[in-house]
Amino acid sequence: MVKKSDKSAAPLIPEKPTLPSLREAARDCKACDLWKSGTQTVFGEGGRRARIIFVGEQPGHEEDLSGKPFVGPAGRLLDQALEEAGIDRSQTYVTNVVKHFKWEPRGKRRIHAKPNAAEIAACRPWLEAEISLIQPEVIVCLGATSAQALLGKQFRVSRSRGEFVKSSLAPRVMATVHPSSVLRAPDDETRRVERQRFIDDLKKIKLIDD
Ligand code: SF4
Repeated sequence: MVKKSDKSAAPLIPEKPTLPSLREAARDCKACDLWKSGTQTVFGEGGRRARIIFVGEQPGHEEDLSGKPFVGPAGRLLDQALEEAGIDRSQTYVTNVVKHFKWEPRGKRRIHAKPNAAEIAACRPWLEAEISLIQPEVIVCLGATSAQALLGKQFRVSRSRGEFVKSSLAPRVMATVHPSSVLRAPDDETRRVERQRFIDDLKKIKLIDD
């Protein structure tokens, strides 16, 4: 019998994947139970020749409904921050560690719930396939879940944000906060400061030949 923790999307990866065939295969993924709570699979988006991959935790409420990653408030902040950092959005690919929205009801709202280790492990083959097809120059982990999934459990964004770390995933790999944490800042001044720190981190990943 397959244990819950042994579930993996790996058998669903096409033999010679392309981004469209991966996206298509992921549409029907049921490798963990999150397909039951999410409206649809929210696969990564961006060009096959993107030079920077941003990896978040999971789709949020708006992403779940639209089927597109980073289109909610955090995505809009990421877009603005990229512009202010001078990074061309067309050079980027955005995706998540987990591709279904995990949430808990609070009144009429759906509140984000953190994916667990088994769900992250089950979904990882999709992310690995995206990275291996695109072969980016830079990977940026957005937030602790993404950083720990890609850089190891011991990684602390609070200690090492904005630093390039050694990784076999790409020539340059860095972690910073998730833009949603900037939006959750307790007051306007903290939000302004955190937004600027986020932009400053993004400036470090400007492509070498830009
Ligand atoms: S979260 Fe990932 S592994 Fe789980 S059902 Fe969705 S696509 Fe499959």
